[in-house]
Amino acid sequence: MLTQLILYPVVFSFLFQITHIKELSLKYLFCRSKCDFCQKPISIIYLIPIINFIVLKGKTLCCKRKLKQSYFWGELLACGLIIILSMTELPLKNSVIMLIYFSLLVLALYDLETYTIPIHIPIIVLITTMILGPFYYLQGFGITIFLHLFFYCCKNQIGYGDILIFSMLSFLLPLHIFFSVIWFTFIISGCFSIAYIIVKHSLNLKIPLVPFIFCAFNTVALCYPLLKFGGGIFEY
Ligand SMILES: [Zn+2]
Repeated sequence: MLTQLILYPVVFSFLFQITHIKELSLKYLFCRSKCDFCQKPISIIYLIPIINFIVLKGKTLCCKRKLKQSYFWGELLACGLIIILSMTELPLKNSVIMLIYFSLLVLALYDLETYTIPIHIPIIVLITTMILGPFYYLQGFGITIFLHLFFYCCKNQIGYGDILIFSMLSFLLPLHIFFSVIWFTFIISGCFSIAYIIVKHSLNLKIPLVPFIFCAFNTVALCYPLLKFGGGIFEY
């Protein structure tokens, strides 16, 4: 448990930094993490920004600039994977659940910051899943083609980054789990939108979808036995 509490935030921190790189290279696997602002290498004790937030009050040690809040929330949520892994009954390897959890978490935070997604993350996830297995080639290609046709016909309804994330998941998840994630994404984002409109009295709403895909995946991971045995729309 203590190992996971230390390891998961470090994994998140590494992956989140990878989302911000401009060109993909293997050298990133071996070089030290650098400060976002002055590019100085970060000392080992401060590689976990939660320590930065507590000890340095959310500022960098080198240049005293304010750290992004995404690091803090991301590392806190990275520890949520302990709950997911201990409670889920999803018929997936733990390594695949971890891969999906971390990739959706970093993509969700990146989407919240920029309203875009870095294309190299889904590519890394797909290549890694090909190695870890299982990889649903036929299902993935079929759904990806369908989603791209849907995007072409309804360009203003959904962002292309969201299409890419759903396409990525279609190669990783069995069909009934994939559809459950889609259902919950739109149920949760729909409830959020209605609540936002009621509270803010405004229809001017632009929401990034990936955070809701992340929430939907976790909901499905935690409620899987209910979805499986409850019958209805989630059982195929
Ligand atoms: Zn610095």
